[in-house]
Amino acid sequence: MAAGGSTQQRRREMAAASAAAISGAGRCRLSKIGATRRPPPARVRVAVRLRPFVDGTAGASDPPCVRGMDSCSLEIANWRNHQETLKYQFDAFYGERSTQQDIYAGSVQPILRHLLEGQNASVLAYGPTGAGKTHTMLGSPEQPGVIPRALMDLLQLTREEGAEGRPWALSVTMSYLEIYQEKVLDLLDPASGDLVIREDCRGNILIPGLTQKPITSFADFERHFLPASRNRTVGATRLNQRSSRSHAVLLVKVDQRERLAPFRQREGKLYLIDLAGSEDNRRTGNKGLRLKESGAINTSLFVLGKVVDALNQGLPRVPYRDSKLTRLLQDSLGGSAHSILIANIAPERRFYLDTVSALNFAARSKEVINRPFTNESLQPHVLGPVKLSQKELLGPPEAKRARGPEEEEIGSPEPMAAPASASQKLSPLQKLSSMDPAMLERLLSLDRLLASQGSQGAPLLSTPKRERMVLMKTVEEKDLEIERLKTKQKELEAKMLAQKAEEKENHCPTMLRPLSHRTVTGAKPLKKAVVMPLQLIQEQAASPNAEIHILKNKGRKRKLESLDALEPEEKAEDCWELQISPELLAHGRQKILDLLNEGSARDLRSLQRIGPKKAQLIVGWRELHGPFSQVEDLERVEGITGKQMESFLKANILGLAAGQRCGAS
Ligand code: ADP
Ligand code: MG
Repeated sequence: MAAGGSTQQRRREMAAASAAAISGAGRCRLSKIGATRRPPPARVRVAVRLRPFVDGTAGASDPPCVRGMDSCSLEIANWRNHQETLKYQFDAFYGERSTQQDIYAGSVQPILRHLLEGQNASVLAYGPTGAGKTHTMLGSPEQPGVIPRALMDLLQLTREEGAEGRPWALSVTMSYLEIYQEKVLDLLDPASGDLVIREDCRGNILIPGLTQKPITSFADFERHFLPASRNRTVGATRLNQRSSRSHAVLLVKVDQRERLAPFRQREGKLYLIDLAGSEDNRRTGNKGLRLKESGAINTSLFVLGKVVDALNQGLPRVPYRDSKLTRLLQDSLGGSAHSILIANIAPERRFYLDTVSALNFAARSKEVINRPFTNESLQPHVLGPVKLSQKELLGPPEAKRARGPEEEEIGSPEPMAAPASASQKLSPLQKLSSMDPAMLERLLSLDRLLASQGSQGAPLLSTPKRERMVLMKTVEEKDLEIERLKTKQKELEAKMLAQKAEEKENHCPTMLRPLSHRTVTGAKPLKKAVVMPLQLIQEQAASPNAEIHILKNKGRKRKLESLDALEPEEKAEDCWELQISPELLAHGRQKILDLLNEGSARDLRSLQRIGPKKAQLIVGWRELHGPFSQVEDLERVEGITGKQMESFLKANILGLAAGQRCGAS
């Protein structure tokens, strides 16, 4: 296998692609470990590639069912209505005349630079069997596809970036696997059997036990890749059948190690995936093992569709774990990778339904948002001693809780090296656990390195400490200020309460105050209402003691001001003690008696407990027996019981009092 084009030319293309990526999709900045900011989003890019007619089938007899409109859109005949076409728009559309270089330079090359930033990237070829996925990804010696081109460029780039004298040392490794019937098979070590897929605490997907081969040149890559590809197809006698029924995943890792302090380490992963055919196997008439294979393929591709839908709809559960393929792609779809999906389609009519379904899947995928971030940490040999110092500085449990999962890996439960007294002395610094631990780590490691080299300069470590002490002092001062303000506020509140209490004594308590002056306090509710009789206010009545005291029974929840609400319940009678001055009682009785004797049925209805029926009965009784001599005669009216009469009296005298109270206020 050989990738076309000179190195010089490829370098120029890489530079151009990088510039394009900076202005477009690749707008991403390096993120530090421990950074709590959410990484910027990067939408999954979707390109569609239409292959030309193959096997000489092109011709006037079989016109293509798909037609490109411009560099981003295409149309396909609508099978429901032949007069209509269905139009689709993507990030890129590559027509039948497009070359391997067009696809690579236009859609794949721009995302490779992210690998050197410690970010992940993935390229997925999707589409029905025979639509050109393998041609796009792998190609042929004459027309190399995405895989050899990407490897060629990546290796060249890492050689340049990792050359002696540059700040970072770079290394590249490759792994190659296939997912066949929901089994993860290592193509570089076919004897290893089904492998498990795991996720680390940072959400990175790993396959423990998967072979990783270091590669430094394209020849190295070919040396491992070509026999592994044969493993894929020679593993079964069904050769191509199997290859179109399995998902082939090439994983290339770019590892970077900083040569000088603070000795950072970054890892970028590139997935290059040739997916199994997306055709509907029910239509292909597969039987037996083929059908079983198809079932497995359909399951994983079906789950892939569900994952895309769940991500688009923002569902709380994305079913990544429902298939091996989606579990593996977890950090590529809706995850941390810069992803590009290349949907391959064929022009022949017999592909029509599979083409429509592939286009629909592609259209749904372009809504998926990823959030790529930089996988950066400190190199293990630096981390060892630093861990202790960091722990010592940040303080144990709260500090650890405040940190994100990325730091969880870095922080270790090792015992503290510093003496207890030192950690106690530093305990106030625990408040500053929100400080960027990555920055601390770097300073500490640099400090340590300088010390080991016998540096005479001021120890770096002391600088952040001093700064932190100053900050601590400021924070303490602010705390004191807040305390002072709180005390002042409490004093003012107490003053206001005292003023209100004074107001209450001077004014009628039931008088309404403006809402803004009402405060909700913990003060006990009033249990005693003093109601001044109207006539006493109006006529300056002689008796200053004429009062109604309505006392609330302990333990009852009825509110004082709901005086009018007393009337209906006879049960409530027990709740109240009625203490009415004799003058008012006599006055009230007389008024009621007058009304009973002189009032019409309508007037009588203005009395409490007297409805239309009772009013008629009273009028009827009066006509028969003459005027009532006392209020208690009411008991003699047919249909009015003694108890009702009592209740009538109480309610009406209270009603009278309430009326007077309202009149007074
Ligand atoms: P898939 O992997 O999707 O099943 P292949 O990549 O094997 O499809 O393509 C099927 C056939 O079509 C192969 O013979 C391949 O060489 C040819 N082919 C696919 N795409 C193109 C293309 N863009 N130009 C020329 N031939 C192509
Ligand atoms: Mg194929």
